[in-house]
Amino acid sequence: RSGRSAALRARMEERLLGARFRYLNQQLYTGSSRDAAQLFRADPAAFHLYHQGFERQVRRWPERPVQRIVRYLRRRPASLVVADFGCGDCTLAASIRNQVHCFDLVPLSPRVTVCDMAKVPLAAESVDVAVFCLALMGTNLQEILGEANRVLKLGGTLMVAEVASRFEDTHAFLKAMTQLGFRTVSKDLSSSYFYLLEFAKTGPARPGPAPGLRLRPCLYKRR
Ligand code: SAH
Repeated sequence: RSGRSAALRARMEERLLGARFRYLNQQLYTGSSRDAAQLFRADPAAFHLYHQGFERQVRRWPERPVQRIVRYLRRRPASLVVADFGCGDCTLAASIRNQVHCFDLVPLSPRVTVCDMAKVPLAAESVDVAVFCLALMGTNLQEILGEANRVLKLGGTLMVAEVASRFEDTHAFLKAMTQLGFRTVSKDLSSSYFYLLEFAKTGPARPGPAPGLRLRPCLYKRR
């Protein structure tokens, strides 16, 4: 009997954690990056819960997107300086020899510089590669990608891995990216889980609205 009630209790707890994760996740995708920063500053426990839920989600996938980015960077010179926007547990930094600036809202690892990705403490044109791996979460996408443009050297690489179902109109998205100063170098849309996009910085972002720059929130289903 006590075994059964313990199992029931564990299942209830799992349910509650799942619900809390989905709620936090929805807040991250439907607010600005500043709202996200405030949310986690006020409640660091929420951040850890979010990450547990995130880990559980990506474990179901055949491949972690960050591993694709690791493989890509291992083929390029280790002298390239990398900025990882929304680095999570710093898997990228731990897997390559390059210097990697790791940015996130709360430090899951001592490597992390805590900040809102819309405003990172790097000088203009100081990095060769900017990475957003499942990290384009805020509604202020233009500002966030503008920050990546600012810190990238001319000709530098922007890598984006995002959940495939978030793209409403990939063509419009890529067109908007040209306005933000990014040329599409390659796009891998073959996975049904996530898209991998590689851009090169062509110049500064042009001001003005970029209406095609839209991603659907990534809302997870209850399981
Ligand atoms: N890139 C990692 C983690 C992806 S989860 C990986 O692929 O494993 C998305 C990460 O973005 C989370 O760690 C979250 O805390 C971070 N994030 C979300 N909004 C952010 C913001 N405004 N500033 C910095 N990091 C943010």
